[in-house]
Amino acid sequence: MIIKNASVLNEEGVLERKHIVVQDGIISAIKSEIEAVDGAGEIIEADGKLLIPGLIDMHVHLREPGFEHKETVETGARSAAKGGFTTIACMPNTRPVTDSPEIVQFVKDKAREAGLVKVLPYAAITKSELGRELTDFAALKEAGAIGFTDDGVGVQSAQMMKDAMKIAAGMDMPVIAHCEDNSLVEGCAVAEGTFADKHGLKGIPNESEAIHVGRDILLAEATGVHYHVCHVSTEQSVRLIRQAKEIGIKVTAEVCPHHLLLSEEDIPGLDANWKMNPPLRSRRDVEACIAGLLDGTLDIIVTDHAPHSKEEKAKGMQLAPFGIVGFETAFPLLYTAFVATGKWDLSLLVQRMTADPARVFRLNTGSLKVGAPADLTLIDLTAEKEVDPASFASKGRNTPFAGWKLKGWPVMTWVDGRAVWTEE
Ligand SMILES: [Zn+2]
Repeated sequence: MIIKNASVLNEEGVLERKHIVVQDGIISAIKSEIEAVDGAGEIIEADGKLLIPGLIDMHVHLREPGFEHKETVETGARSAAKGGFTTIACMPNTRPVTDSPEIVQFVKDKAREAGLVKVLPYAAITKSELGRELTDFAALKEAGAIGFTDDGVGVQSAQMMKDAMKIAAGMDMPVIAHCEDNSLVEGCAVAEGTFADKHGLKGIPNESEAIHVGRDILLAEATGVHYHVCHVSTEQSVRLIRQAKEIGIKVTAEVCPHHLLLSEEDIPGLDANWKMNPPLRSRRDVEACIAGLLDGTLDIIVTDHAPHSKEEKAKGMQLAPFGIVGFETAFPLLYTAFVATGKWDLSLLVQRMTADPARVFRLNTGSLKVGAPADLTLIDLTAEKEVDPASFASKGRNTPFAGWKLKGWPVMTWVDGRAVWTEE
């Protein structure tokens, strides 16, 4: 296959017109001129559209097994492909929880059957994510788990977390943490702030996240584990991670598009499509997250794609489950808000969604160079389109971004040189 006339970012972050030759699922050549195309197979005319390495999302919820009414591995993988993602890592808070080699294998089998994007399963730190008993890390790694996390809930016991980190460090595996102290968030649905006050809701304080970040950084220092912080949303967490990196503690971190774009002041009313965990925080926290992403304190962007049914989200702000979908809006949202406005370089956005996750989690993808897997995404930077939840490939429609007019929509996605999504 040849993708002709694509705009690709060079080493300096400048766009160049190139032709990409793909053979046996691998990028075999990147050329400025192309003469004979005999035997090259299919020719895709990119027509100057942006070609980037396939996006990588290291924090997603595919809901299977157990919550197939929200999403399945297949619908989630299709939604990811439509959003330009070629590799996704799924969280273990399914039912049953991914705490046994059998469930890891089940998720891998479902992903293979779907035949869309690369799906990397995480396994739980504790059995059923109850925080009481560690899972069998060696068996889970053997089955194909890429890291350990109790995402959805924080590991409340410091001793439990320390034990987990010790074992993971010995196996050269990362511990990925949803940071939340339960004693500070009971009965809370939104963050502390003007919205909570206005509606008489009990607010989630910033410390509920940052206390765990601080604790875990100290435990990471003591154990030498690669510690990765999930969905950072507070100024205090960014500060703690920045300091830890400065003194050489092995910590990495992620941030979600909604925590870079929205604050609690933007919540229009008691609509649970604006309810997620961590919650939308203050404008000051948003600015701290943006600064953290720009200076590399926050290494990668993830969506925390968290589909729920319409009925579940209709229960209202206090009772509805936490979470919003993310795959199909992530790149256009960030491109429109930060790149099209001239605030960020295009290369920074692409790097934080491709090369950086590949570096942090040591994945063989995320680069557009000869010899790399042909995991590729073609993006139309000019056409403007409204976010229409009814058009999502995901079963989930729960997004606060409905109606937003965006540019930067993925139009074609390849995994190992195979087209897995083509926009009609
Ligand atoms: Zn989480």
